[in-house]
Amino acid sequence: VIQIPSPNHGPRPPGGAVDILLLHYTGMESASAALQRLTAPESGVSAHYLIDEDGQVMALVDEDRRAWHAGLGSWGKSFNINDVSIGIELVNPGHEFGYQPFPAAQMAALIGVAGQILARHPAITPARVLAHSDIAPARKQDPGELFDWRLLAQNGIGFWPQDDAGDLLHCNPQNITTLQKNLAAYGYPILPSGILDDQTRQVVLAFQRHFQPDHLTGTANAETCRRLLSLLRQAGLG
Ligand SMILES: [Zn+2]
Repeated sequence: VIQIPSPNHGPRPPGGAVDILLLHYTGMESASAALQRLTAPESGVSAHYLIDEDGQVMALVDEDRRAWHAGLGSWGKSFNINDVSIGIELVNPGHEFGYQPFPAAQMAALIGVAGQILARHPAITPARVLAHSDIAPARKQDPGELFDWRLLAQNGIGFWPQDDAGDLLHCNPQNITTLQKNLAAYGYPILPSGILDDQTRQVVLAFQRHFQPDHLTGTANAETCRRLLSLLRQAGLG
Protein backbone atom coordinates (compact mmCIF):
# COMPACT_ATOMS: atom_id res chain seq x y z
CA VAL A 1 0.00 0.00 0.00
CA ILE A 2 1.39 3.37 -0.94
CA GLN A 3 0.17 6.56 0.73
CA ILE A 4 -0.90 9.30 -1.67
CA PRO A 5 -2.87 11.73 0.49
CA SER A 6 -5.89 13.45 -1.03
CA PRO A 7 -6.99 16.79 0.44
CA ASN A 8 -10.62 15.90 -0.26
CA HIS A 9 -12.03 14.78 3.09
CA GLY A 10 -13.71 16.05 6.22
CA PRO A 11 -14.61 14.91 9.72
CA ARG A 12 -17.03 12.06 10.25
CA PRO A 13 -20.01 12.95 12.45
CA PRO A 14 -19.28 12.10 16.09
CA GLY A 15 -20.53 8.86 17.57
CA GLY A 16 -21.36 7.03 14.35
CA ALA A 17 -19.80 3.71 13.41
CA VAL A 18 -18.49 3.00 9.95
CA ASP A 19 -20.93 0.38 8.69
CA ILE A 20 -20.83 0.37 4.87
CA LEU A 21 -18.10 -0.67 2.44
CA LEU A 22 -18.82 0.93 -0.95
CA LEU A 23 -17.15 -0.25 -4.15
CA HIS A 24 -16.74 1.83 -7.30
CA TYR A 25 -15.04 1.82 -10.63
CA THR A 26 -13.19 4.96 -11.66
CA GLY A 27 -14.86 5.23 -15.08
CA MET A 28 -11.91 7.13 -16.52
CA GLU A 29 -9.53 6.38 -19.37
CA SER A 30 -6.45 5.74 -17.22
CA ALA A 31 -5.30 5.09 -13.67
CA SER A 32 -3.22 8.25 -13.65
CA ALA A 33 -6.19 10.38 -14.72
CA ALA A 34 -8.25 8.84 -11.93
CA LEU A 35 -5.52 9.39 -9.33
CA GLN A 36 -5.17 12.98 -10.44
CA ARG A 37 -8.91 13.62 -10.12
CA LEU A 38 -9.21 11.89 -6.73
CA THR A 39 -6.39 14.02 -5.31
CA ALA A 40 -7.09 17.40 -6.99
CA PRO A 41 -8.48 19.95 -4.51
CA GLU A 42 -10.83 21.44 -7.11
CA SER A 43 -12.45 18.11 -8.01
CA GLY A 44 -14.22 17.70 -4.68
CA VAL A 45 -14.08 13.90 -4.93
CA SER A 46 -12.00 11.23 -3.27
CA ALA A 47 -12.08 7.71 -1.89
CA HIS A 48 -10.23 5.99 0.90
CA TYR A 49 -8.45 3.64 -1.49
CA LEU A 50 -7.67 3.37 -5.19
CA ILE A 51 -6.61 0.03 -6.66
CA ASP A 52 -5.12 -0.16 -10.14
CA GLU A 53 -5.32 -3.06 -12.61
CA ASP A 54 -1.98 -4.46 -11.41
CA GLY A 55 -3.16 -4.62 -7.82
CA GLN A 56 -1.27 -1.59 -6.56
CA VAL A 57 -3.22 -0.17 -3.61
CA MET A 58 -3.09 3.56 -3.01
CA ALA A 59 -4.34 4.91 0.33
CA LEU A 60 -5.76 8.39 -0.29
CA VAL A 61 -7.85 9.22 2.80
CA ASP A 62 -7.57 7.90 6.39
CA GLU A 63 -10.43 5.57 7.32
CA ASP A 64 -11.35 7.78 10.28
CA ARG A 65 -11.99 10.67 7.91
CA ARG A 66 -15.03 11.18 5.66
CA ALA A 67 -14.09 10.77 1.99
CA TRP A 68 -16.25 12.15 -0.81
CA HIS A 69 -17.26 9.29 -3.07
CA ALA A 70 -20.93 8.36 -2.65
CA GLY A 71 -22.99 11.46 -3.46
CA LEU A 72 -26.76 11.28 -3.15
CA GLY A 73 -28.03 7.86 -2.22
CA SER A 74 -29.26 5.70 0.61
CA TRP A 75 -29.21 2.19 1.99
CA GLY A 76 -31.73 1.09 4.59
CA LYS A 77 -31.87 3.83 7.19
CA SER A 78 -28.56 5.37 6.10
CA PHE A 79 -29.12 8.53 4.10
CA ASN A 80 -25.66 10.08 4.18
CA ILE A 81 -23.48 7.31 2.90
CA ASN A 82 -20.19 9.21 3.06
CA ASP A 83 -20.68 9.69 6.81
CA VAL A 84 -20.69 5.96 7.50
CA SER A 85 -18.77 4.34 4.67
CA ILE A 86 -15.35 3.43 3.39
CA GLY A 87 -14.99 3.90 -0.34
CA ILE A 88 -12.75 1.90 -2.66
CA GLU A 89 -12.22 2.93 -6.29
CA LEU A 90 -11.17 0.24 -8.76
CA VAL A 91 -9.42 1.43 -11.90
CA ASN A 92 -11.62 0.48 -14.86
CA PRO A 93 -12.67 2.55 -17.89
CA GLY A 94 -16.28 1.81 -17.04
CA HIS A 95 -19.29 1.68 -19.31
CA GLU A 96 -18.40 5.02 -20.87
CA PHE A 97 -14.82 4.29 -22.00
CA GLY A 98 -14.71 0.54 -22.72
CA TYR A 99 -15.85 -1.52 -19.77
CA GLN A 100 -13.46 -4.40 -19.00
CA PRO A 101 -13.32 -7.37 -16.65
CA PHE A 102 -11.48 -6.65 -13.41
CA PRO A 103 -8.05 -8.36 -13.58
CA ALA A 104 -7.18 -11.14 -11.13
CA ALA A 105 -4.37 -9.10 -9.57
CA GLN A 106 -6.75 -6.22 -8.91
CA MET A 107 -9.35 -8.55 -7.37
CA ALA A 108 -6.72 -10.22 -5.16
CA ALA A 109 -5.54 -6.83 -3.88
CA LEU A 110 -9.13 -5.77 -3.25
CA ILE A 111 -9.86 -8.95 -1.31
CA GLY A 112 -6.83 -8.29 0.87
CA VAL A 113 -7.72 -4.67 1.58
CA ALA A 114 -11.42 -5.35 2.09
CA GLY A 115 -10.71 -8.19 4.51
CA GLN A 116 -8.61 -5.86 6.65
CA ILE A 117 -11.31 -3.17 6.53
CA LEU A 118 -13.97 -5.63 7.69
CA ALA A 119 -11.72 -6.73 10.57
CA ARG A 120 -11.28 -3.11 11.66
CA HIS A 121 -14.98 -2.22 11.27
CA PRO A 122 -17.19 -5.09 12.49
CA ALA A 123 -20.35 -3.02 11.95
CA ILE A 124 -19.90 -3.58 8.20
CA THR A 125 -22.09 -6.68 7.95
CA PRO A 126 -22.14 -8.69 4.69
CA ALA A 127 -25.38 -7.05 3.54
CA ARG A 128 -23.64 -3.67 3.79
CA VAL A 129 -20.83 -4.46 1.34
CA LEU A 130 -22.29 -2.55 -1.57
CA ALA A 131 -21.96 -1.27 -5.10
CA HIS A 132 -22.28 2.43 -5.79
CA SER A 133 -25.21 1.42 -8.01
CA ASP A 134 -26.94 -0.20 -5.01
CA ILE A 135 -27.18 3.07 -3.09
CA ALA A 136 -27.90 5.27 -6.14
CA PRO A 137 -29.68 3.10 -8.73
CA ALA A 138 -31.01 6.04 -10.76
CA ARG A 139 -27.56 7.62 -11.18
CA LYS A 140 -24.86 4.98 -11.02
CA GLN A 141 -23.86 1.69 -12.66
CA ASP A 142 -20.53 1.01 -10.94
CA PRO A 143 -18.70 -1.25 -10.39
CA GLY A 144 -21.11 -3.00 -12.77
CA GLU A 145 -22.02 -6.46 -13.96
CA LEU A 146 -18.44 -7.56 -14.75
CA PHE A 147 -17.45 -7.23 -11.10
CA ASP A 148 -17.12 -10.64 -9.43
CA TRP A 149 -19.22 -10.34 -6.26
CA ARG A 150 -19.37 -14.12 -5.99
CA LEU A 151 -15.58 -14.29 -5.64
CA LEU A 152 -15.74 -11.66 -2.90
CA ALA A 153 -18.40 -13.59 -1.01
CA GLN A 154 -16.31 -16.76 -1.32
CA ASN A 155 -13.60 -14.80 0.48
CA GLY A 156 -15.91 -13.67 3.28
CA ILE A 157 -16.70 -10.24 1.83
CA GLY A 158 -20.40 -9.59 1.30
CA PHE A 159 -23.22 -11.98 0.42
CA TRP A 160 -23.92 -14.03 -2.68
CA PRO A 161 -27.31 -15.74 -3.19
CA GLN A 162 -27.31 -19.41 -2.22
CA ASP A 163 -28.99 -22.11 -4.23
CA ASP A 164 -32.11 -22.99 -2.33
CA ALA A 165 -34.96 -24.34 -4.41
CA GLY A 166 -37.26 -23.75 -1.46
CA ASP A 167 -37.03 -20.00 -2.05
CA LEU A 168 -38.55 -20.47 -5.48
CA LEU A 169 -41.78 -21.71 -3.91
CA HIS A 170 -42.29 -18.41 -2.14
CA CYS A 171 -41.45 -16.29 -5.10
CA ASN A 172 -43.79 -14.50 -7.48
CA PRO A 173 -42.03 -11.84 -9.56
CA GLN A 174 -45.42 -10.60 -10.80
CA ASN A 175 -46.28 -9.37 -7.31
CA ILE A 176 -44.72 -5.92 -7.60
CA THR A 177 -45.63 -4.73 -4.10
CA THR A 178 -43.96 -7.73 -2.48
CA LEU A 179 -40.93 -7.36 -4.73
CA GLN A 180 -40.63 -3.69 -3.76
CA LYS A 181 -41.04 -4.46 -0.07
CA ASN A 182 -38.41 -7.18 -0.22
CA LEU A 183 -35.95 -4.94 -2.07
CA ALA A 184 -36.56 -2.20 0.51
CA ALA A 185 -36.18 -4.68 3.38
CA TYR A 186 -32.76 -5.64 2.07
CA GLY A 187 -31.79 -1.94 1.93
CA TYR A 188 -32.49 -0.70 -1.59
CA PRO A 189 -33.90 2.81 -1.94
CA ILE A 190 -37.38 2.02 -3.29
CA LEU A 191 -40.91 3.02 -2.38
CA PRO A 192 -43.77 0.47 -2.41
CA SER A 193 -45.84 2.06 -5.18
CA GLY A 194 -47.36 -1.24 -6.26
CA ILE A 195 -46.65 -0.51 -9.92
CA LEU A 196 -43.73 -1.34 -12.20
CA ASP A 197 -42.45 2.24 -12.38
CA ASP A 198 -39.07 3.76 -13.29
CA GLN A 199 -37.67 3.54 -9.75
CA THR A 200 -38.53 -0.16 -9.66
CA ARG A 201 -36.86 -0.88 -13.00
CA GLN A 202 -33.77 1.04 -11.88
CA VAL A 203 -33.54 -0.77 -8.54
CA VAL A 204 -34.15 -4.18 -10.13
CA LEU A 205 -31.40 -3.42 -12.64
CA ALA A 206 -29.05 -2.41 -9.81
CA PHE A 207 -29.92 -5.63 -8.01
CA GLN A 208 -29.20 -7.61 -11.18
CA ARG A 209 -25.83 -5.88 -11.74
CA HIS A 210 -24.84 -7.05 -8.26
CA PHE A 211 -26.58 -10.39 -7.80
CA GLN A 212 -27.82 -11.62 -11.20
CA PRO A 213 -25.36 -10.27 -13.77
CA ASP A 214 -26.45 -12.74 -16.47
CA HIS A 215 -29.95 -11.24 -16.48
CA LEU A 216 -29.67 -7.46 -16.90
CA THR A 217 -33.20 -6.60 -17.87
CA GLY A 218 -34.61 -4.30 -15.18
CA THR A 219 -37.50 -6.73 -14.88
CA ALA A 220 -37.60 -9.34 -12.15
CA ASN A 221 -37.95 -12.96 -13.15
CA ALA A 222 -38.43 -15.91 -10.81
CA GLU A 223 -34.66 -16.21 -10.31
CA THR A 224 -34.37 -12.50 -9.39
CA CYS A 225 -37.04 -13.04 -6.82
CA ARG A 226 -35.44 -16.24 -5.52
CA ARG A 227 -32.02 -14.63 -5.16
CA LEU A 228 -33.50 -11.71 -3.24
CA LEU A 229 -35.21 -14.10 -0.83
CA SER A 230 -31.93 -15.99 -0.36
CA LEU A 231 -30.16 -12.74 0.53
CA LEU A 232 -32.90 -11.71 2.96
CA ARG A 233 -32.63 -15.10 4.61
CA GLN A 234 -28.83 -14.88 4.87
CA ALA A 235 -29.18 -11.42 6.40
CA GLY A 236 -31.72 -12.67 8.92
CA LEU A 237 -34.43 -10.50 7.38
CA GLY A 238 -36.60 -13.06 5.65
ZN1 LIG B 1 -18.91 5.30 -7.99
